[in-house]
Parts: sequence; structure tokens; C-alpha cells
Amino acid sequence: MILPQQDASFLNEQELDLLRIHSIETFGTHDGPGIRLVVFAQGCQFRCLYCHNPDTLDVKGGKIITLDEIVKRAENMKSYFRRGGGVTVSGGEPLLQRRKLIHLFEKLKEKEIHTCLDTNGRLINDEVKQLLDMTDLVLLDIKHINEEVHKKLTAVSNESTLKLAEYREASGKPMWLRYVLVPGWTDQEEYLHELGQHFKDYKQVEKIEILPYHKLGVHKWKELGMEYQLKDVESPTEESKQKAQAIFSQYFREVILK
Ligand code: SF4
Repeated sequence: MILPQQDASFLNEQELDLLRIHSIETFGTHDGPGIRLVVFAQGCQFRCLYCHNPDTLDVKGGKIITLDEIVKRAENMKSYFRRGGGVTVSGGEPLLQRRKLIHLFEKLKEKEIHTCLDTNGRLINDEVKQLLDMTDLVLLDIKHINEEVHKKLTAVSNESTLKLAEYREASGKPMWLRYVLVPGWTDQEEYLHELGQHFKDYKQVEKIEILPYHKLGVHKWKELGMEYQLKDVESPTEESKQKAQAIFSQYFREVILK
């Protein structure tokens, strides 16, 4: 059951296994392996200049859904999950609701459903570690390898993101990296090499996905009364995408250009 915001406001979310979400996509094919039920969690503390879903940022926005409803929907899709699919929780930033996701992933595990967590690595603490340990595959968004540029691009440091990667590596469980290629921000050769150097010895990084920057979400910024600062930045050229792919190929087993 999805409750409208006003009806759910009196409930104690912690006790009632409720998750605050932006939306749910059935039959998603972009966020993890196979066909997936993708749950977009509401709320994010990053402020990426290129965010194409700024309507997911408000931690008090979105709508409320019960964990059981998500599990029920996932079970209904089980026949489509056969070729490695499952449930992905993306966002916004899912780690902001980590305790609830621990419950959700416990329930999904009982049903033998594969779980993916698509995160920017906003924080790393014992609860996050517990959640990571029960996540079959982590999709870790590396916004920028250089801390100063990361701060300019997202308004926060990349320290916890890199620590989360370290933890995942030490735990011996798989992760994919994701990297948005933004001309003038993330496409410089030195940064691509720096990122490659940082992760080259990580055995758990199965692949890196390059996500070319686009402006499809810009109208949402306007609707929310927010100023979009990258209006003069165009999508990366074919040449720049190929260059990024070639550089990453020096360091990663598999490089996917989306
Ligand atoms: S981490 Fe994702 S949701 Fe959060 S601001 Fe960046 S692009 Fe938007």
C-alpha cells in the first residue's frame, strides 16, 4: 500500500517498516544486472550540480510505502528475475534510510531475491556496514576522485564514499563503480587516471560504468525554483567518451559506456 504524504504523516516510520520513496520502476534494466524492480528512495544530502532528479532531494518529500508492499511487488516479478535480476534500491540516497533497508533486504533475502544498492556513499557507520554485508551487489557512484572538485560538484567531501569502497573491498563482495562524465568537470585525463590509479588494485570492482552527462532533468530545476548552474555544459562528445573508456580500460576489467 502506498500512502499519500498527508495520511502517513502521523505514523512512526521507524516502528512501522515504512520507506520514504520517490517512485518505483518495474522492469528496470539500467541499475544492476538483469530485469529489476527499482525503488528510488527519497532524500539526498549531495547537491550534484547536474542532478537530473532534484525532486528526490527533499528528505521530507516523496511518499511512503510499506516494506511488505515492495516485497510483494518483487515476488510478483520473480519469474522475470531468473536471469540475474532482482531489486535495486537507488535514489535520492538510500543510505539515509539504512535501518529500514536492513529490514527490507532481510525480507528479500528470505525470498531469495537478489539485492542491489545504488549509493553515493554518503556515510559509513556500523548500520551502513550491516546493510552492505547483506547487499548482493553495490553500485557505487564516484562523483569525483579529487576531493576539492568533489566538494564543488556535490557540496560535500568524497571521504566517506572512498571509505565505503574500502570497506566493500575488504568484505570481499562485489561492486560496480559508476561515473558521470561531465565535460569540464569529470572528463579531464588526469582525473580519469587518478581514479583508475585509486581503484586499480581493487579485486571486488567488477566493472565501471560511464554515464554520459545529459540535460534531461533541467526542467525539474526550474519547476522547483532552483537555478541550474551547468546550463552551458553540453553532453560529452563521442571522442571524449571514447577517451574516457580507453583510459579506464587501462585500470578496470570491464568498462561499460552507457
Ligand atoms: S547523489 Fe544523485 S540524487 Fe543526490 S544530488 Fe547527486 S545526482 Fe542527485
